[in-house]
Parts: sequence; C-alpha cells; structure tokens
Amino acid sequence: MNKMKNNNITLFRFAIMALAFFIFSFAGYWIGANTTVIVPVFNCEYASGGTTRGACIVLIDFNKNMGANFNRFMFSVVGCIISVLLIGRLWCGYTCPVGFFQDIITWIRQKLKITQINIPQEAKPIITLAKWYLVFYILFYDLCKVCPIQFFTVPATGFTSGTSSTAYMWAVVMCVAIILSDRAFCRVCPLGAMMGVVNRISGARLKKCGSACTHCRACLEVCPVDIQEVYEDRENEDITHPDCVYCMKCIEVCPEKDALYFELFGIKLLKSKRMVKEK
Ligand code: SF4
Ligand code: SF4
Ligand code: SF4
Repeated sequence: MNKMKNNNITLFRFAIMALAFFIFSFAGYWIGANTTVIVPVFNCEYASGGTTRGACIVLIDFNKNMGANFNRFMFSVVGCIISVLLIGRLWCGYTCPVGFFQDIITWIRQKLKITQINIPQEAKPIITLAKWYLVFYILFYDLCKVCPIQFFTVPATGFTSGTSSTAYMWAVVMCVAIILSDRAFCRVCPLGAMMGVVNRISGARLKKCGSACTHCRACLEVCPVDIQEVYEDRENEDITHPDCVYCMKCIEVCPEKDALYFELFGIKLLKSKRMVKEK
C-alpha cells in the first residue's frame, strides 16, 4: 500500500482544535464568559473559563433545566440542533474539548508505538446499546453523577471537582479505554449519539467514488470510530455515517485521486489525491 506523504489535514485539525479548546475552556478569563451561548460540544459545565457553554448544561439534569426556564432551555436546544444541522459532527472533529483530549492521548500512544486494541464488529451493537442507554439515563437522572469528563476538562481550567466516586471510577475506566482505543468516549458519548441522528441530513457530507476505490482498506485502518462503510460501500456516493466525526483521516490516507471527498453545502472542500510511494 502506498504510504501517506503528509498529514496537513491532521495538522490543520489539531490547530483548530487547540484554538477551540482555548476559546471554549480558557478565553473567558480574558474576554469574559458568555453563559447564554451554548455550543454542541461536550464540555463540563464546571469548566468555568469558557467563552461559551458546552451542551452539557442542557443535558445536566434535563428535567430540572427544562422546568427552570423553559423558553431559554428550548432556545438552547433549538440553537444546538440548527448548528448541528448546518455542519453536522464537524463540531466533534474540530471543536470538542473532549475530542481534543482523546486525540492528544492517541497521538501520545502512537508516538510511544503502543498498539491500539481494535474493537470487534460484533461488539458494535452492545456499544450502540450502551450509548443510547446513556442518552435515556441523562434525560431522567443526573449526568454529573456518572460523567467521567469532569476529571479531565475541569482540572484543565485550573479547578478541581469534588464529585461522586462513581464518576471517578468511570473516569479511570474511560482513561484506560481512551489509551487503548481511538475516541473511546465518543463511541458512547450521549451528545454524539444525538448529533448522529442529524449528521446524515446536515450540510456536511463525506462522499465516495466507488469506481476510483481500489479497496485498499487504508481508510478503515485510520478511522477513529471504525466506520466500515467508508471502505466497504462502493455503490453509494454519499457515505456519510451517523458516527463520522469528519476527522478527514480517510481522505488524507486514501491513495486514489477523488475516491473520497468532503462537501459542505455541496461545495467540495477536500478530496483524496493520488499518493506517491515514499522511498
Ligand atoms: S462524540 Fe466525542 S467529540 Fe462529539 S461531543 Fe461527544 S465527546 Fe465530543
Ligand atoms: S469516516 Fe473518515 S472522516 Fe469519518 S470518522 Fe472515519 S476517518 Fe474520520
Ligand atoms: S476509499 Fe480509498 S482508502 Fe478507502 S479502500 Fe478505497 S482506495 Fe482505499
């Protein structure tokens, strides 16, 4: 298989993610926090240095929030839905602080040459079940009691969180899972599950030219959420998947010109290029 010549897309994505992490988690200390703008990313409500709030504020104790200020709550929900309808899960691939945290762990693991554990296809239905169980759990119970993310994003902003031992236990489990497998939290993230519902009808599209594909499998090997269709499907042009976070790694490594491409509102922004073998 031809080897990738450069990783410009990944470098660009990391730069955007670092900037988004700064804006969503720190910049509020300098330019002031804005508690009314809610963005569809998984950022802990108690990470108080952000310029905006992550959608966790909508998810924390859903019923209580809805009852407390119904108009504001619905405005936030509708705003989040519209923003996901516009650019789909580009939010996950380019702006989510938790996604960034996971990608840094992956980068360290790759530098240390630690082999990741591939999650078998047979386990996917169980993971999907767990993901939707979490969605229904947070709609009726308190997300903070089980959410492991507070132990990552809150200390990153200079604070400590004193929450439940259950959440602490999940934080350890999630940390190990993230070390062992790309984007392990994203696979069960309740916010990601909800965004996945509208990912396929959003303005963002991952497309494939089946006749240009040589079935080399490179796209599947780099996909952080193991989307089989990007490799297998040679019939459909639109291969946008609910789980796709638009990291564009598949486009980056695909060795065939125009076999994979990304469109935003019908405009082709990225496409695979023919690779030249590295010496
Ligand atoms: S699926 Fe991952 S990237 Fe998307 S909101 Fe959840 S944690 Fe963030
Ligand atoms: S299908 Fe491609 S763009 Fe989507 S998550 Fe997988 S590698 Fe990233
Ligand atoms: S889409 Fe590209 S990377 Fe994926 S199997 Fe086909 S040729 Fe290989």
